[in-house]
Amino acid sequence: MFMRTPIIAGNWKMNKNPEQTQAFLEAIKGKLPESGVEAVIAAPAVDLNALTWFSKDEPLKTAAQNSYWEDEGAFTGETSPKVLSEMGIDYVVIGHSERREYFHETDEDVNKKAHAIIKNRMTPIICCGETLEQREAGDTNSWVAGQVEAALKGLTDEEVGNLVIAYEPIWAIGTGKTASADQAQEVCGHIRETVKKLYNEGTAEKVRIQYGGSVKPANVKELMAKKDIDGGLVGGASLDPEDFLALVNFQN
Ligand code: PEP
Repeated sequence: MFMRTPIIAGNWKMNKNPEQTQAFLEAIKGKLPESGVEAVIAAPAVDLNALTWFSKDEPLKTAAQNSYWEDEGAFTGETSPKVLSEMGIDYVVIGHSERREYFHETDEDVNKKAHAIIKNRMTPIICCGETLEQREAGDTNSWVAGQVEAALKGLTDEEVGNLVIAYEPIWAIGTGKTASADQAQEVCGHIRETVKKLYNEGTAEKVRIQYGGSVKPANVKELMAKKDIDGGLVGGASLDPEDFLALVNFQN
């Protein structure tokens, strides 16, 4: 029995057009767990409409992969958190390492986005994680704690208790190299300690922490058995409907 509801989120990244999205949704229809786990798909913005329609009748939560921090205005190419909320989107992934690396998203940006997403009654999934170099230098815990502290700046304990933090070691993303369950637990535990230091024990016990980095049906059970791992953020393996179903049904 889990204290915190497990949350398995597929991150499709920049994959699938509307037809492919429809085919995926047809394949998972009627097969998602009704309770005990939250199944989430973070789809490209162009596919979100299909997801929100599907989620009216099916136990699927929806996520955007990014949003801006302003609700509207002259911000060509950005996506409004207000509109995402009006569409019925539940979660927004922020601070993914690909956004930090390729689009120069800073800790300060992530923090502004977290505030905007919460203001618009959605839940941020805040990503953090170290490079291989940082891990080898023994800097993982301090680096990740710094990212978490910066992302949460100015949020109340209630707001932090309700959000999701995804620990994603950069060296394990899309590489087939998974952190061992013990390595993942160690950092997820450290993140919970960090939240406890910054807020309090109740908030730390409530916040959900995902592990991400080459999660697949074969390793999800072992990862989810760890006490501070409450879910997975899954890239590659979430693109296939059978794999996604196996992941969200990890308890069976
Ligand atoms: C991700 O996209 O956040 C991710 C962890 O990717 P993958 O599962 O493919 O490593």
